Parts: sequence; C-alpha cells; structure tokens
Amino acid sequence: MKYCQHCAGPITHHIPPGDDKLRYCCLSCDVVFYQNPNNIVGTLPYFGDQVLLCRRAIEPRKGLWTLPAGFMENGETSWQGALRETDEEAGAQVTLLPDSLYTIFNLPNINQVYLFFRAELSSLLFEPGTESLEVKLFREDEIPWQEIAFAVVKTTLRQYFDDRRQQYYPVRMYDVTYSPERKADIKLVSESGNKNFAEI
Ligand SMILES: [Zn+2]
Repeated sequence: MKYCQHCAGPITHHIPPGDDKLRYCCLSCDVVFYQNPNNIVGTLPYFGDQVLLCRRAIEPRKGLWTLPAGFMENGETSWQGALRETDEEAGAQVTLLPDSLYTIFNLPNINQVYLFFRAELSSLLFEPGTESLEVKLFREDEIPWQEIAFAVVKTTLRQYFDDRRQQYYPVRMYDVTYSPERKADIKLVSESGNKNFAEI
C-alpha cells in the first residue's frame, strides 16, 4: 500500500500517537490502516460414519485433502461463510445444528483464526467446485492421513473420530505455533464442559 485510499496522499509506516504498534498511516488525512487477523471458516461434513473431504486444485498444498473452508466475507456470519464455502468447494448442502461449533484454532504467526462446524450432509449430492479436484466421503480407516493439507484439518478430523466413539462433541480451542522448520505445534487451550481442564 503506497497511497491513501481516501486522499491519495503518501502512506508511511510508523507508530501513531497513543498506539504502540507500527501501522500504515496517511500523513495527509491522518487515517490509520489497521491490519488484523483473518477468519477462516469451514465445515466438517459428515454422513453416518463418513466425512467429506476435498482434494485441493489450488496452491498452497495442491493435490492434498482438506475440509471445505475459506476466508469469511464482509457482511456474513461465521456459519453462513462456512455453509457458503461448503457449497463452493464441495457442491454440498449441509445442516448445522445448535451444537455445530466444533474447533477453533488461533494461528498468531500467520494472523489467522480458524472455525470449523460439524455439519450433516443433507444429501449425497456433491461435486468438486473450481478450487477442488475431487470430493469424496471417507470412513476413518480410509482417511489419507499422510495427504491431509493442513495441521488444523488433521487435528479436527482426529478429534472428530475420537469424539464420535463417545457421541460427545465438546467445543475445543487450540493455539497453533510454528517452529522455524515450519512444524506446527498444536496446544489445546480450552474445552467446553471441562471444569477440570487446567492447561490454560
Ligand atoms: Zn489520506
């Protein structure tokens, strides 16, 4: 960003008065352009004992499998965004229940927050959208664990199959940090209904 969207004046990078972080600021009209984390919303679409995965047609991690998810758009709620992404990437219609919110991941290194919702497939009609090569249902023992695109997706899937055995699906939040070798460290920091949870 070089020029102000409001007055076309030059943008500088400095700490505004009363702030403690570097910001992009316009010297002419005093507007501050804040940069904040992005929300990525998606679903874990299931049907009986199977879950629906999409094989990515785009970088990053092209060719690997993921859950349908993407950036929230302005003007939509998190769950509307998750339904939209599920339709766009998997051509699938799903039903959200009142307890659908499932996993939340904080990724401070890359300024993202992920939200996944459990969502039952409304029908077995689905087809790959432009961002997917293939869309397919998998039982737990069929999941291509070595070919899952993202650590947040792998964690959500493993959690889901564990929870499914108990038929109990608490909402869990994880902090994800990356080592210099880009290895994800995923730490559970909150779990609904667990008063004994003392990891925080
Ligand atoms: Zn300006």
